[in-house]
Amino acid sequence: MSVPWETVIGLEVHCQLETRSKLFSGCPVEIGAPPNTRVDPYSYGLPGTLPVPNSAAIDAAIALALATGCRIAPRSAFARKHYFYPDLPKGYQITQADEPYASGGAIEVPGSTAEDGRPVRVRVQRIHLEEDAGKTTHIGRESRVDYNRAGAALLEIVSEPDLRSSEHAAAYVRELRTIIRTLGISAANMEEGTLRCDANVSLRPLGASEFGVRCEIKNVNSFRFLARAIEAEVRRQRDLIERGEPVVRCTLGYDHERDRLRIMRTKEDAADYRYMPDPDLPILEIDETRVAKVRNAMPELPADRRKRWIDGGVASDDAFLLTGERELAEFAQTAFAALAQENWRRAANWIAVEVLGRLNADGLAIAACRVTPTAVAELVELIADGTLSGRLAKDVFARMWAGEGGAQEIVVREGLRQVSDATSIAAAVAEVLAENPRQLEMLRGGKDALRGFFVGQVMKKTRGQANPQLVGELLDRAIAEGKS
Ligand code: ADP
Ligand code: MG
Repeated sequence: MSVPWETVIGLEVHCQLETRSKLFSGCPVEIGAPPNTRVDPYSYGLPGTLPVPNSAAIDAAIALALATGCRIAPRSAFARKHYFYPDLPKGYQITQADEPYASGGAIEVPGSTAEDGRPVRVRVQRIHLEEDAGKTTHIGRESRVDYNRAGAALLEIVSEPDLRSSEHAAAYVRELRTIIRTLGISAANMEEGTLRCDANVSLRPLGASEFGVRCEIKNVNSFRFLARAIEAEVRRQRDLIERGEPVVRCTLGYDHERDRLRIMRTKEDAADYRYMPDPDLPILEIDETRVAKVRNAMPELPADRRKRWIDGGVASDDAFLLTGERELAEFAQTAFAALAQENWRRAANWIAVEVLGRLNADGLAIAACRVTPTAVAELVELIADGTLSGRLAKDVFARMWAGEGGAQEIVVREGLRQVSDATSIAAAVAEVLAENPRQLEMLRGGKDALRGFFVGQVMKKTRGQANPQLVGELLDRAIAEGKS
């Protein structure tokens, strides 16, 4: 007999900020640059180098704190966290310990519903600023270190253990990524390592008030693996508990090829970091004027934008999809701005299905979209006023994509107007029925699948320009008349 267990998850997310230079030196940062080409004496931790805070990184940090509803500490401190590893030449990492610059925020998990019917809210315990370490790669018996990343600015966003499923955990990180990208402070890309996630997982009997012992899964590098790693850990802990064995607090690595977790270290040999205030850096002071300046420069946040669009009639699936990426959201926003609000819903759906479909098929990002958002708006207007059927609009869009001009221009040049004139459509219907007597007999005899064939023939006869709804109605009428 198995007890129902509740999964408890808390996440630590690292985001590498896209500042021009590192957190404490003028050394340039560039993702994907050849190893050890973005380094300076500070990155190598050479004696005599001193940290100087990068003010752009601090502004980015303030923006994320505001976007997640955190309190910003007017004064916070930098601390040294010591450990020995080749990727950390100074022998310590500058981070924030007991005094992070931001705490007490929350993020709503999109698409989730809590017991009270509202979206699940995950409290953000703290956000702190720290410098990144280098990157070690093990190739056979050789280990190589790349210091390009050493000293880059990182934000660590620590959640309270408020998540209860792997699915919500992934959705939370996605939302965080969307917020970061919308703010434009980082590409927040898991594959490139500019977004990294550690998941703390524990189990407890459903309804218990105390948390169970947690284990921490380190550095998962995709959303899919994050959810899978959590599920694998839940299975591992449940097996232990149900066999009567204790869950021992540990740090784990996830092997996605075998869908298995590997214990890296247990609490017994947990590192003692010997935290101490960094004597080379002053207290980090963030005053109201600075916060206000950052706040005023902030774009509309994804959650606000989503709500505004849904209130404006956009289907919620489309609103979630289109606010997922900053550039996509701006594309949609520009299209909406050119349209009456009653057409937002149609425009959103058109972008979500047709525009993204084309982009995906051609392997292009939204930034490389060949059709401008205002051109999409023009097309949507032609659908809305009945000039184009959905089918014709697709043809027109294909021509727009091929660079043949704007929607209106193509409609006029190609004579692609939708025909909604009942007399001419009825004539086409009559011709088609007369031309296919055998199929008509079968349809009247109950072979309903043939209806699609007749619709297709009428569309063909009218060069795809007949209003499909009207074709359907007139066809059904003609078929029914013949039956009686
Ligand atoms: P540490 O500094 O040792 O990593 P923290 O208190 O900072 O510990 O917590 C780290 C993360 O672990 C946080 O995201 C927190 O929500 C999560 N966490 C704490 N307790 C549990 C638990 N029992 N189960 C799951 N996650 C937990
Ligand atoms: Mg931790």
